[in-house]
Amino acid sequence: MKKDILSMLPEEIEAELENLGEPKYRAQQLFTWLHRGVRDFEEMSNLSKSLRQKLQENYRLYRPRVLKKQVSQIDGTIKYLWELADGNAVETVVMQYKHGNTVCVSSQVGCRQGCAFCASTIGGLVRSLEPSEILDEVLFSQLDSELPISNIVLMGIGEPLDNFDNVMRFLELVNHPKGMNIGMRHISLSTCGLIERFDDLAERDLQLTLSVSLHAPDDETRSRIMPANRGRGVEKLMEACRRYYERTGRRISFEYAMIDGVNDTEFHAKLLAKEARSLAAHVNLIPLNHVEERQFKPSTSGHMKAFIKILEDAGVNVTVRRRLGSDVDASCGQLRRKMQAKGTQETEVSAVK
Ligand code: SAH
Repeated sequence: MKKDILSMLPEEIEAELENLGEPKYRAQQLFTWLHRGVRDFEEMSNLSKSLRQKLQENYRLYRPRVLKKQVSQIDGTIKYLWELADGNAVETVVMQYKHGNTVCVSSQVGCRQGCAFCASTIGGLVRSLEPSEILDEVLFSQLDSELPISNIVLMGIGEPLDNFDNVMRFLELVNHPKGMNIGMRHISLSTCGLIERFDDLAERDLQLTLSVSLHAPDDETRSRIMPANRGRGVEKLMEACRRYYERTGRRISFEYAMIDGVNDTEFHAKLLAKEARSLAAHVNLIPLNHVEERQFKPSTSGHMKAFIKILEDAGVNVTVRRRLGSDVDASCGQLRRKMQAKGTQETEVSAVK
């Protein structure tokens, strides 16, 4: 089996090249080609022919293929469905904000966390993505869209902390000064709350933003809609958040999808306000995206207003996520689902009106 050279750091590539009897400085040239999106060793024109040959024999490279690309007519949001080397597909979304272009990447093919409102989890987990595959989502979204990417959110398909080592390596690669050089402060990692990994993450002392998909501040509601809460619990989650905050000095962000009649009552708002305040956490409210296979509905605007008022009155820093790409199935997991349902493989570029 040929090795995945794109998942390697420059120092590891150096070691590989030394084994091949090549000078170490070639590693930098190779790393630069790879991180510019070159996926054919033959195109690496400053490497000798014999080295290109050796690379070809020992390492695999793959250029992800666009299976589907949808461009929002409303706000320019672009949604990609990429085909991976083994035929699996993942989604990536590019959003244009005032503060810069943001790419939302998937970390796994499918998901095993089972959140009741989410489309990504319906078929379960197929496999985790390699660091190189996550990197290519960012790189090829930038190259194809011609929008320079300055921010990354790990909020696509999959649970990043369920693919911990590969996600950490992806972060090192995308943050590398000789690579895409995207600053950690411009990266958010979203988790459904796999608290057993929070301390490992804190230890790395990255300056990224940890987003916790809270969605309910009490065990009864949270365990109902998020199986990951069962056996862990909100209290332990809050303790893990506190330790993370104390160790890294980075405020946590709570994601909260407003679901009609499920988590949007006064009771929920008051408890959420208490928990967010004690952690100085930011609350990001998301109007629920309707998923065809799910029975849940978004909260009414009246309920949302009342909910926001309770949080604001308690001094909580709260924002409502703008709905970008609502015409392109931009709520993650939906495009891949549709593609599976249709079973089509052709490349399709569409603009939805
Ligand atoms: N597994 C990670 C990251 C992926 S999902 C996590 O759970 O955080 C990114 C965010 O979208 C999460 O907060 C998730 O709960 C939320 N989400 C999933 N389905 C949604 C839907 N139908 N409407 C609104 N938000 C949704």
